[in-house]
Amino acid sequence: MSKKHILIIEDEPAIADNILLALTQEAFESYWAKTLQEAWDFLKKHQTHLILLDVGLPDGDGFSFCQKLRQHLETPVLFLTARSSEVDRVVGLEIGGDDYVTKPFSPRELVARVKAILRRSQEKPQKNSSTNHPTSLKLGPFILEESKRLCTYFDKSLSLSAHEFNLLKVFLKAPGRVFDREQLLSKAWTHPESVLDRTVDAHIKSLRAKLKEIAPQEEAILTHRGVGYAMRENW
Ligand code: CA
Repeated sequence: MSKKHILIIEDEPAIADNILLALTQEAFESYWAKTLQEAWDFLKKHQTHLILLDVGLPDGDGFSFCQKLRQHLETPVLFLTARSSEVDRVVGLEIGGDDYVTKPFSPRELVARVKAILRRSQEKPQKNSSTNHPTSLKLGPFILEESKRLCTYFDKSLSLSAHEFNLLKVFLKAPGRVFDREQLLSKAWTHPESVLDRTVDAHIKSLRAKLKEIAPQEEAILTHRGVGYAMRENW
């Protein structure tokens, strides 16, 4: 099996050195970026299997970076967090991280997490957009173009996070069908086992807010109490 490539985005050299050492000992190919800009430049050019992402970086924060990343790539992200308030955000909304470790962490703990994430991402069939058939889904005011990851609603384009887009796609493929949280997690998340159930609710809430912004009077995603959610069938 070829070596796994891991990108470390961390501005503290001492922490980065420790991680590099631990990963090299485990025969991973690791790279270090001190800034988000360096990281982008690297990711554009190199195939990367996992990203270790610090939260506070000189040219921005890891959360925004991860959100931006998720619009282009599904590379798993392990957050290196410093405070419990950061942990709350990682497990909370929109960010799309796969796991986290809290500083200070032991190299052994980190390596264990890295291996677990890589194992999971290997078990998943890789979603490769180039092998997908270009499809567009239409329902009422929605037009979703899967290959371009674009969706319009009443002719206005929606700016969606990767998970919001995936959720909407699941709904639009089966209008009227009620999905419970577990089903939505398994269909819309790459690593559902590392996500909390309430994450689904949070994403539905933000997705609804974006739809309401365009058409305040329309109820597109219906709640079935105690069961789950469904896309409105009749438009
Ligand atoms: Ca930092």
